[in-house]
Amino acid sequence: MSLTSQNNTIFTLLERYGHQNILFCQDKSVGLKAIITIHDTTLGPAIGGTRMMAYRTEEEAMEESLRLSKGMTYKAAITGVNLGGGHAVIIGDNSTLKSEVLLRRFAQFVNQLNGTFIASLDVGTTPRDMEYIRMETSHVAGLPKSVGGSGDSSPFTAKSVYYGIKAGIKEYFGNDSLAGRKIVVQGTGHVGERLVALLRKENAKVFVSDIVSDRMIQVANQHGAEIISNTSLYEVEADVYSPCALGGTLNDNTIPRLRCKVIAGSANNQLGDEIKHSQMLKDMGILYAPDYLINAGGLISCYSELAGYSVSRTMQLAENIYNMTRSVLQKSKQDGISSLQAANKLAEDRIEAMRKIKGYK
Ligand code: NAD
Repeated sequence: MSLTSQNNTIFTLLERYGHQNILFCQDKSVGLKAIITIHDTTLGPAIGGTRMMAYRTEEEAMEESLRLSKGMTYKAAITGVNLGGGHAVIIGDNSTLKSEVLLRRFAQFVNQLNGTFIASLDVGTTPRDMEYIRMETSHVAGLPKSVGGSGDSSPFTAKSVYYGIKAGIKEYFGNDSLAGRKIVVQGTGHVGERLVALLRKENAKVFVSDIVSDRMIQVANQHGAEIISNTSLYEVEADVYSPCALGGTLNDNTIPRLRCKVIAGSANNQLGDEIKHSQMLKDMGILYAPDYLINAGGLISCYSELAGYSVSRTMQLAENIYNMTRSVLQKSKQDGISSLQAANKLAEDRIEAMRKIKGYK
């Protein structure tokens, strides 16, 4: 299968997404085929997850990396950290093809980029894999705590989502108290469970749903939440719907059924169609806290690891998501645009301002 078609050349793709650089990495002797995409380094080195998956085509792998690296530029910009956006894909089944030698060879390619790209965790890679990458390059983040890294990012992500929820509640109701607020959390995994604990501490009335019932029951019992079925959660008259499981749950089928006032959760790519569905939510009067902003706790954790910050400093940076979410929701209201457009605009403005003072064209 060819990587590009006549209308989809590599340079057309670079132009479409506005990228700076792509590095194709191959070493047949270790079975390595990888693509590193660097979207924008105005604010700092491009950080990005390293995803290892068996893609159907090389084109699919490249398009995914281009899309995710652009998303990372916006996430870093809106979060206020000095990082740019990048991403890497290693093409192959992570359960059978991943090995120390493959990861270390990949890391040598990362090293060639002289710090313009920093590899971190993504689907198909683990903190242990980051240790192998660290053996060949210092340009890596997401290492285990035991070797000086920031470890599991989910406590920071749960915290940033919690602040995103509070900011949404404040915008909607005028005060940010969670006491008695009805909040539906979809997904009781690493982030979901920690979020439920934070919400229950403030006496929110929490409802949980998960497709793994043992886990859902355990989380509900431990934190005093109620269980709700996966099929009825969209119709619940709730203050907040918090998607913390999968992407794409806000779509043509679910949005018309929603009875919530605020949407704020950790899942990536919650909107099936970014433009259309963020506008639909705005038209229905539902406040949507953009996913890439309020789930930035994981990125903040990597940033702190690179900067050598303490856990308390990392938590402070995650707390700042509150102010940023409020700015986004206020801009959305003032300018009559969706919250996603408002977040994108604020991110672009920050990059543009830095571009100017750095003298970039
Ligand atoms: P996880 O795998 O630990 O938890 C996800 C949970 O969702 C699991 O319990 C799973 O059973 C459940 N689930 C899957 N499909 C479901 C469905 N249809 N309905 C209800 N529940 C379902 O993942 P996590 O680390 O908790 O992350 C949750 C989401 O947040 C993911 O989308 C992830 O990409 C995103 N995210 C996580 C972080 C982080 O730091 N962990 C950072 C940014 C974004």
